[in-house]
Amino acid sequence: MTQRQYLVAGNWKMNGSLEANRTLVSGILAGLGQCAGVEVLVCPPAPYLAQVRELVEGSRIRLGGQNLADQQKAGAFTGEVHGAMLRELGCQYVLVGHSERRSLYGETDAVVAAKFKVAQALGLVPVLCLGETLDERDSNRTEAVLARQLGAVVEAAGIAAFAAGRAVIAYEPVWAIGTGRTASAEQAQSAHAYLRGQLAERDATIAGSTRILYGGSVKPDNAQELFAGADVDGGLIGGASLKCGDFLAICAGAQSQLK
Ligand code: PEP
Repeated sequence: MTQRQYLVAGNWKMNGSLEANRTLVSGILAGLGQCAGVEVLVCPPAPYLAQVRELVEGSRIRLGGQNLADQQKAGAFTGEVHGAMLRELGCQYVLVGHSERRSLYGETDAVVAAKFKVAQALGLVPVLCLGETLDERDSNRTEAVLARQLGAVVEAAGIAAFAAGRAVIAYEPVWAIGTGRTASAEQAQSAHAYLRGQLAERDATIAGSTRILYGGSVKPDNAQELFAGADVDGGLIGGASLKCGDFLAICAGAQSQLK
């Protein structure tokens, strides 16, 4: 099995300002030593990518977008951000299919799959977000939902699209995002193992090399336990990524689990 490097990604969502970003990034830079061996990614709002790119320049902090247009070519799509623009601004990653995009902006599995493909075609690593709602979990449909959401992308893009380093999956139970409610370490590991199994049914090598992050109210006091799961390869962090101390402590939580 390929060694999977832990990845801790901060999703700033629609938060930040020039001044707040400067303070946050300088704090992360100052504390990066706590998380040697962990890949650290920040995903600021699109208007701040140029600023944050300059702030992280020369460091090992990576930059990602939060969303991209499902269009191969630039053109008349008011308000959209093309993947090539993200690349030009220094992004290596882009979130695709975050639950807020799915629930608030109507992104279907087909749209998510299209964005995933466009991201890869333009040289970005998509972080494919998926996860069940509380209602789906309570009615024992978690695995069916995960299979459907992942399957839509695998069918559209092909399993090779998940070959080592080409894509990341983020399991984010919707009921745990921004709610302060976290999946237990067992619930997270079980969902991650299921997702890896879904990939393994298509290609065992690719399944072994694909990083699967957990997201949903990760905090300094639960990060270490969540990251201990054999199939948990880091986290996608929302609220806590805006607090430098919390974000660094979460990165350190991943570092402490280096296998
Ligand atoms: C997220 O936005 O992807 C997320 C997991 O948010 P939070 O950590 O605030 O639950």
